Amino acid sequence: MHEMSLMESVIEIVCETARQNGATRVKSVRLDIGALSHVDPHALLFCHEAVRHGTIAGAATLEINRIAGEGWCLDCGKTVALEERFGACPDCGRNHVQMTAGDELKIRDMEVI
Ligand SMILES: [Zn+2]
Repeated sequence: MHEMSLMESVIEIVCETARQNGATRVKSVRLDIGALSHVDPHALLFCHEAVRHGTIAGAATLEINRIAGEGWCLDCGKTVALEERFGACPDCGRNHVQMTAGDELKIRDMEVI
């Protein structure tokens, strides 16, 4: 389950950043997770429960901001919705779509005390 190691690094970065800013506690963390990234938000929440204990983010809430998949269709010359990686264009049905959004996997922001 790669969500566990992912969440471990998130908590590590969050705690490190909080410490550098002189904070003693992390209140909340918000993550941007693209719909096309291979990350299961439910698994992330579960892993968050497991890895936050014993850290200064021990009571932090986790909010996951889902980012919808989007791509640029070279044939239509416009941005289209993308349901899957390397998916076809919903308008012309061809596979000349370059993914432009939906692959995100980052810490959007965090709140500290
Ligand atoms: Zn198209």
